[in-house]
Amino acid sequence: MKVGVVGTGMVGSSAAYAIVLLSAASEVVLVDANEKMARAQAEDLLHAGPFLSATRVSYGHYDQLQGAGVVLLCCGVAQRPGETRLQLLQRNADIFHEVVPKVVAAAPDAVLVVATNPCDVVTGLTAKIAKLPPGRVLGSGTILDSARLRALVAEHVGVAAPSVHAVVLGEHGDSEVLVWSNIQVGVFPLAVYAEQVGRPVTDQAKQQIDEKVRRAAYHIIDGKGFTNFGVGASLARIVQAIRNDEKLVVTLSAPGDGKGPIGDVCFSLLRVLGARGIEATLKSTLTTQEEEGLKRSADILRKAAQAIAQ
Ligand code: NAD
Repeated sequence: MKVGVVGTGMVGSSAAYAIVLLSAASEVVLVDANEKMARAQAEDLLHAGPFLSATRVSYGHYDQLQGAGVVLLCCGVAQRPGETRLQLLQRNADIFHEVVPKVVAAAPDAVLVVATNPCDVVTGLTAKIAKLPPGRVLGSGTILDSARLRALVAEHVGVAAPSVHAVVLGEHGDSEVLVWSNIQVGVFPLAVYAEQVGRPVTDQAKQQIDEKVRRAAYHIIDGKGFTNFGVGASLARIVQAIRNDEKLVVTLSAPGDGKGPIGDVCFSLLRVLGARGIEATLKSTLTTQEEEGLKRSADILRKAAQAIAQ
């Protein structure tokens, strides 16, 4: 499967690197408004091939995305000093108005995967512009936040992260909802497992983990100026699941079906991911508090989506 990556800065190039590492695609094509950047990233990645995999890497214009099964959208601009999040959102929205029609024209059968922030609002906008069948436009959303929660719970109780099943729903951002009520370690509820190994998950431990998950991007950006490895791995895993038609159960952002209190708000819920993109949305059993948190998150995102010029 050919994979396109539009926007080849820190996020796009890290996703491409992880795709090469996992051999998750036969070919990766890099596209960027800054062609010099796309070319340099492609050359650098090509040189990793002999050590890692047979994935072919090239760069080019939008027409080179023809035949792609997935296109990752990682293009965007960073916040300027003094700029509000809404002004940033409007600038990234303008970029997507320009980029998405070109991607759809070149690769009409591709699943579009949005990473650009604010991820949920940009995913909703992309779905509106692209007008593809439901499921074919998705945002990486809280796949990364769920991974962060799994990694931190695993560290706390001393197990491997893949043995922890935990999800973060809602906004990929400040209002996200960590679903503590459903966490499993292997086949055990978290509290039962934690008790057995003598590492109880106290309210204080929960608060510390919550802060580290919710504010992860702030902490990482404070130290290195950007985040790239976690999101790069998340995007490569999404590509792999689509390529292999895995029916992977994972949290991803997509527009709502218009029904119930969430309406058509675009944010993360549990989804089944396969060759056609999101193939089903699953309803989680939540506590009243978690349910209310999800509604609050939806309200925040509804307002943000209304604030950008469509
Ligand atoms: P970056 O500045 O390193 O890269 C952005 C790239 O987009 C640049 O190479 C730029 O030339 C390109 N670009 C800008 N306008 C374009 C256009 N019109 N057409 C094509 N390419 C264009 O930024 P980054 O660190 O790679 O971050 C990219 C986006 O991903 C940001 O919005 C960031 O907030 C977001 N992000 C999302 C997650 C997530 O979990 N979803 C995690 C980290 C970062």
